[in-house]
Amino acid sequence: MDEKSHVSMEQHLCLVCGLGFDTGGILFDRRLRQSMKRHTVTGWGLCAEHRRLFEEGFVALIECDPQRSGVPADQDHMRPEQAWRTGRLAHLKREVLVRVANVALAPDVPCVFVEPGVIERLQAMVGPEED
Ligand SMILES: [Zn+2]
Repeated sequence: MDEKSHVSMEQHLCLVCGLGFDTGGILFDRRLRQSMKRHTVTGWGLCAEHRRLFEEGFVALIECDPQRSGVPADQDHMRPEQAWRTGRLAHLKREVLVRVANVALAPDVPCVFVEPGVIERLQAMVGPEED
């Protein structure tokens, strides 16, 4: 369905899994032109599943390939639109991540981008008793 319309379902991309999900919003073309596709991505958010995990106190670790992610050398953090996701994901409790990685994490941060190998290292540090 690539037909253009004057209305479009608003979608956000999930920061964690990178998939689009409906926000429930409807976009209207101001001049009612047939300008939009069925779905229009307007920003980033969290899908239902990852919203739930965030609210349960988990932080998502998103593995990204730094070679393919295209982050300029003078930029010290990755923006979500630059991240080249390898497809590996892990969830850690916020307090566990803060403890083992020794990082300060703002309470509204739902996810962090990590390089390959970091998830294994963190999981090894957490140990088997914590899932
Ligand atoms: Zn998601």
